[in-house]
Amino acid sequence: MPQPMIDPFGREVSYLRVSVTDRCDFRCVYCMAEDMTFLPKREVLSLEELDRLCSAFIEKGVRKLRLTGGEPLVRKNIMSLIRSLSRHLDSGKLEELTITTNGSQLSRFAQELYDCGVRRINVSIDTLDTAKFKTITRWGDLGKVMDGLRAATAAGLKVKINMVALKGVNEHEIVQMMSWCHEQGYDLTLIETMPLGEINEDRTDQYLPLSTVRERIASEFTLTDIPYKTGGPARYVSVAETGGRVGFITPMTHNFCESCNRVRVTCTGMLYMCLGQDDSADLRAALRASESDELLNDAIDEAIGRKPKGHDFVIDRQTRQPAVTRHMSVTGG
Ligand code: SAM
Ligand code: SF4
Repeated sequence: MPQPMIDPFGREVSYLRVSVTDRCDFRCVYCMAEDMTFLPKREVLSLEELDRLCSAFIEKGVRKLRLTGGEPLVRKNIMSLIRSLSRHLDSGKLEELTITTNGSQLSRFAQELYDCGVRRINVSIDTLDTAKFKTITRWGDLGKVMDGLRAATAAGLKVKINMVALKGVNEHEIVQMMSWCHEQGYDLTLIETMPLGEINEDRTDQYLPLSTVRERIASEFTLTDIPYKTGGPARYVSVAETGGRVGFITPMTHNFCESCNRVRVTCTGMLYMCLGQDDSADLRAALRASESDELLNDAIDEAIGRKPKGHDFVIDRQTRQPAVTRHMSVTGG
């Protein structure tokens, strides 16, 4: 029987995020350089390998699985993987199968996602201003994303909007975004920029601490801390005036590592025990070395035994290097 995954600090790993591709149809300024070089196909796990890998983790106690990227919905035949993974929802081993998406392909896929048992999705939108959306995503079209959101709601998917708080870019639109989200019935999660990968820009210019953002919202609205949890690191408040919820993901200002129940796998099968550390384990080698899952399970156990206590992110003028060299699109957000 596969062993459950308990790390050296007694934390049980029950949440897996898998990047299914490093490719994307956007080029968000904080995530990618415009001229990104993507991985050759042979290095990326096939859909069958991704299925085997996710299934092995589910056998070892993963209850929540999030597919991300790059943009998960631009991976060719991605729905065949999602449909196949939905068998674990039917069997009751998996509680939740979900995706993080930029929304560009949602019009096409929303209904099928719902039919495969997906009930909640995260959609990343940093601004409601069409021109600014283009500036931030470089290649994105806000109109298409809005069509996708309507399709998601029509299909019955619950939507959470992820917004990266960017100093001088969208910081004065956060209250507007919150009000809009709550009108639509969406939760909003705010995220601080993290120093992941070279992006040809200075991250000190982008970094906006969410403690400041929270103070600003609190000057206009009544915020109450609530114990609501979605399995991720966000801490939520309820907003009395709108009746909605706002989550804060504060890797920089508040260290959330002590309750970390997550690991991530890249699209090349590298298992990262911590988003902010370079230590990893090569699961692709284990997957490709044998058709049985014994080597794979051993590699996972060995890696979980090395899960670090936490990350060491710093963004300041002295620390010019990213904390880790890989981009968020590689590890998966
Ligand atoms: N393409 C999909 C999307 O944008 O939702 C999924 C992958 S994307 C890497 C996942 C999330 O990571 C997005 O919400 C994005 O805004 C966020 N992200 C990307 N780079 C980041 C960074 N350096 N710091 C903080 N969040 C980042
Ligand atoms: Fe693509 Fe998502 Fe990164 Fe934007 S944040 S470039 S949509 S992977």
